[in-house]
Amino acid sequence: MTKSGKFGFEQSVNFFREHAGDTYILPEKAGADKERMLSLKQDAREARYNFIEFAKQLSKEFTDLKYDNADRCSRWCRDNGKGKPKIIHFYFWIQLKNPKWKDQLPSVSLSFGAENCLDIRIDVEQDNLDKLRDKNPELYRKIIEQQFHLLDKPLQNNIEYRCIIPEADTLCYGNSDVESLKKKYKNSENKPLFQVGTKVKSLFEKDNAGTLFDEALELVRVVKSYYDFVMTYNEENCIDRAESIDEEIDDLHLKGEDREAIVNLRVNQHVFRDRLLSRYKHHCILCNVDQTELLVASHIKPWSKSLPKEKLDVDNGLLMCPNHDRLFDRGFISFDDHGKILISSILTAESRQALGITGDIKINLSEKNKAYLKYHRDKIFQK
Ligand SMILES: [Zn+2]
Repeated sequence: MTKSGKFGFEQSVNFFREHAGDTYILPEKAGADKERMLSLKQDAREARYNFIEFAKQLSKEFTDLKYDNADRCSRWCRDNGKGKPKIIHFYFWIQLKNPKWKDQLPSVSLSFGAENCLDIRIDVEQDNLDKLRDKNPELYRKIIEQQFHLLDKPLQNNIEYRCIIPEADTLCYGNSDVESLKKKYKNSENKPLFQVGTKVKSLFEKDNAGTLFDEALELVRVVKSYYDFVMTYNEENCIDRAESIDEEIDDLHLKGEDREAIVNLRVNQHVFRDRLLSRYKHHCILCNVDQTELLVASHIKPWSKSLPKEKLDVDNGLLMCPNHDRLFDRGFISFDDHGKILISSILTAESRQALGITGDIKINLSEKNKAYLKYHRDKIFQK
């Protein structure tokens, strides 16, 4: 077996392809099979080690997600009955967690194996969920409801659902069943638990092309923003957070631009920005800038004029590059109810050209965007 690719995935995939489902016996008890078992053990250790390293690399990309620890990664073989011999697993599994999350709460998990190659998803561990149902029924209900709520939002094509109906021991995969299941269990005590996952297939080839790491990162970002949305988003949280930002600014006795700068900094540290990143697929709505760290969550109705519940409402935001954010913020441009751009007469032809502003630009709007944009046209836009 040769090690190749940036994270040695080829080796790991080969390990699963060759050995998943095989029997493993401790080398000292394997008799004539001793050499073969020693080499199997060595190969499995390397494959597992590669995957752990990969998960560690991924977790470094996120300030709030930590690699849990090696013990949480599935053992590479599992007991068959009373311990001997052992069956080689079909997959490894790793959890990334925010240390602030309680044990019972969901995690972002990566699993990796012969069939699905790499599966990244957010979920609630069923065991913990069962314990939670007895210990804290209110929190249990909240988790179920929040997971359920996720299905009301448009999801990207590469997101798959997995549905677990508590106590019915039923698993359903794919998107097609979701609507009917939602209806069927709408008034039931046993509401289904939905997981959201995304899969990278053909890992083997992608790793050879050297693109797997970037793709996986992107997928984790997508899943993570849904995760944040599910776990942290509700109007009450957003109002609390908005109030604490206002309090902080009052304490600092800032005025004018300094005040605005702190508001923008804090807003852009909130799930508000993650949701905009996800909604607009990490792209400025007006140009091709797609470098995440440059993109700004821009308010349609300004923070200082917004009601508490409007301040971190994702429909009161648009994702833009710094140039276009400034144009919008200062009223050089706005949008009509169809999303067609409105350009202020004070924006010079030179600036328009340099900043790529042309009259044929049109963006997609949500219904709630439109109400906020009316304010922008009336009060901010410099006709
Ligand atoms: Zn732009």
